[in-house]
Amino acid sequence: MIPLADALEHVLVRVPAQPTVEVPLAEAHGCVAADDVVSRETIPAWDNTALDGYAVHAADVGVPGAVLDVVTTIAAGSAGEDPVGTGQAARIMTGAPMPPGADTVVMVERTEALDDGRRVRVDAAVAEGTGVRRVGDDVRAGDVVVAAGTGLRAGHLGLLASVGAVSVRVRRPVRVGVLSTGDELVEGGAPLRRGQIRDSNRLALLALGRSSGFEMVDLGLVPDDEEAIEAAIRAGCADADALLTSGGVSMGDFDHVKVVLGRIAEMRWMQIAIKPAKPFAFGLLDGVPVFGLPGNPVSSLVSFELLARPALRRAAGHVDIHRRRVRAVSEEGLRRRPDGKTHFVRVALSQDDRLGFRVRSAGGQGSHQMTALAAADGLAVLPDGDGVAAGADVEVILLDS
Ligand code: AMP
Ligand code: MG
Repeated sequence: MIPLADALEHVLVRVPAQPTVEVPLAEAHGCVAADDVVSRETIPAWDNTALDGYAVHAADVGVPGAVLDVVTTIAAGSAGEDPVGTGQAARIMTGAPMPPGADTVVMVERTEALDDGRRVRVDAAVAEGTGVRRVGDDVRAGDVVVAAGTGLRAGHLGLLASVGAVSVRVRRPVRVGVLSTGDELVEGGAPLRRGQIRDSNRLALLALGRSSGFEMVDLGLVPDDEEAIEAAIRAGCADADALLTSGGVSMGDFDHVKVVLGRIAEMRWMQIAIKPAKPFAFGLLDGVPVFGLPGNPVSSLVSFELLARPALRRAAGHVDIHRRRVRAVSEEGLRRRPDGKTHFVRVALSQDDRLGFRVRSAGGQGSHQMTALAAADGLAVLPDGDGVAAGADVEVILLDS
């Protein structure tokens, strides 16, 4: 058995990065920035007002009750170039440029308009600089506004739009094919003959991949037949940037995926010191990464989470390739025996105002038991040993919610 970290490292250094493409900002949501994006603009471009109110000289409003002449009105979008002198005020709307001379904005709620708006009384003492957004307090020309490797969320798109970017260079999304293998597998809702089970891995992996930002391709269900498996794998590699197979990579007599991949690809067969998901295979076929995930439903998803997902995120260009981890209090004992492996326990997470995150087992932990997988918000990480006592802290990998 090899440590998980070694298996992951083996994969990470072999997965090629996706090529880059320039896309319009409107199509960039969820893409990964390929380069640092440097702003050519300074934002805000001018001092402007954060409030609706009156632009004034601070020296005029040091004490409540000042009465000032209103000399102009500055709407958002107007240039606001008329100066404001001592004893004067400009009516001003949020976002409008500060007029020359003024250094402070009094919010309208603190004022009383007099003489049909020709004068204004300020009913509060207002400190210098109040209500003013300074030029460049958000972005300065030359700032990196989005770093290479950033997954572009709504906020990033807004920021890029605000500095005048119209397109952004990103990595082409990873296209990932998913293939199921096994004579025992059945698709759809037909009654099962004794010995058969339904193909659940493919649908789950397709969904998991999609929610991880990959473009997923369903390559179907293939029987335990070497020719059929080879044809499906070759077709998948021709069409996708990476391939996920599940089943047929362990020590069984009918592990045909293993035979085929062993023959046509450069594979490494691994036994990883984790439970579930001990067997795992990785290799390249014509340069396309192939992930041989174990067949048991829980194992295939855990293997995807721990190995394929981070590698595919790396290929997609993400700097941040791992799920978030939190420390949580275990509400119950999560017991295990020493066996040289790290155990990943499906847990349900709750939040408590006083104690923060809390977890309990999501149910039966067998690698075929999907009920607990469906109920799980996270994987509790139990290092080799006896597990965790009730009330003790445990590290939890947060799963997609
Ligand atoms: P294998 O590694 O092919 O021996 O598969 C291990 C276990 O996972 C067996 O019980 C298989 O029936 C099961 N299995 C394999 N592929 C799938 C799948 N696509 N969906 C559900 N179970 C599967
Ligand atoms: Mg099989």
